[in-house]
Amino acid sequence: MARVYNFSAGPAVLPEEVLQEAAQEMLDYRGTGMSVMEMSHRSAAFKGIIEEAEADLRTIMSIPDNYKVLFLQGGATQQFAAIPMNLLKTGKADYIVSGGWSKKAYKEAKKYGQINLVASSEDQNFTYVPNVDELELSPDADYVYICENETVYGNKFHKLPQTGDVPLVADVSSCFLSEPIDVTKYGLIYGGVQKNVGPAGVVIVIVREDLIREDLPEYVPTIMQYKTQADAGSMSNTPPCYGIYICGKVFKWILAQGGLEGMQKRNQEKAAVLYDYLDSTDFYQAPVRKEDRSIMNVPFVTGDADLDAEFVKGAKAKGIENIKGHRSVGGMRASIYNAMPIEGVKALVEYMKEFEASHR
Ligand SMILES: *Cc1c(COP(=O)(O)O)cnc(C)c1O
Repeated sequence: MARVYNFSAGPAVLPEEVLQEAAQEMLDYRGTGMSVMEMSHRSAAFKGIIEEAEADLRTIMSIPDNYKVLFLQGGATQQFAAIPMNLLKTGKADYIVSGGWSKKAYKEAKKYGQINLVASSEDQNFTYVPNVDELELSPDADYVYICENETVYGNKFHKLPQTGDVPLVADVSSCFLSEPIDVTKYGLIYGGVQKNVGPAGVVIVIVREDLIREDLPEYVPTIMQYKTQADAGSMSNTPPCYGIYICGKVFKWILAQGGLEGMQKRNQEKAAVLYDYLDSTDFYQAPVRKEDRSIMNVPFVTGDADLDAEFVKGAKAKGIENIKGHRSVGGMRASIYNAMPIEGVKALVEYMKEFEASHR
């Protein structure tokens, strides 16, 4: 068995311990004689799994009692529609666009209301996040929307917009559980788990109870109403059972690593190894403005597309996989999520140095 260093942006690397444990329980989950994949979502065994997962997530993030935790399907993309459908009341919302994901969310929301683009960093190909101190927010908006960490461009809001009484909604798909978070600063937090938390197929929505409404427009599908799933404990229909089970194991792993403080320390150390090297050479360039850099997704380029392609090819031979950048940025991107060990980042930097030395 040879495991590679997997820098994929998502689905992405998972903790090896979690995969080992899942492998051991594959055929017989704790004496049930069946795999978690084969059991009823109404069974006592699965009830235990989902309840423990939620309890552990609440502990990790210190989620207050007046927030519901929903384990849903449809990915982050379905939430681009579910959020305006559930939260628009006056019909107005403010969106900040700092990359491709928030741009998609903005476009989708426009189908459902009067959506105001308050700021965008598209003018410089999303190499920065808009200044949150200079936003002209609408006081009567139903919510303000951000994508906290833009996976493709590798930028991050290190400071949140001050939205007063207007709820802040954040897509945290690619920075979920990567550092401590104050849940009370948000009305709704959501993320597809396949970036930093688990396998594809689960999206977690953490939503303040007063934002869960019954008086929704007729057109809102029953299954997309937060009320439906909140009342049913995420089991209005069959939940993504196996994915939730793996997320539960990742939550235990995070707790064992010192919770979100532990994750932050680990992630900052890894990011420093990579950014320190990038800042020490002019052979590679990291396009994002320093103060807006993500510690999860790190894009870099040589400035020469052929050289970039050669870099990616050579990386593969070193067991460094999925390092090719997104087509909209080009070059390379290292996604260094929670489960990426520091050895992986060191191996990458070693290879970058060798490549620089032989191609300068
Ligand atoms: C990957 C990603 C999405 C889309 O997720 P799906 O689960 O594929 O719908 C949305 N937002 C961000 C920030 C992402 O990284």
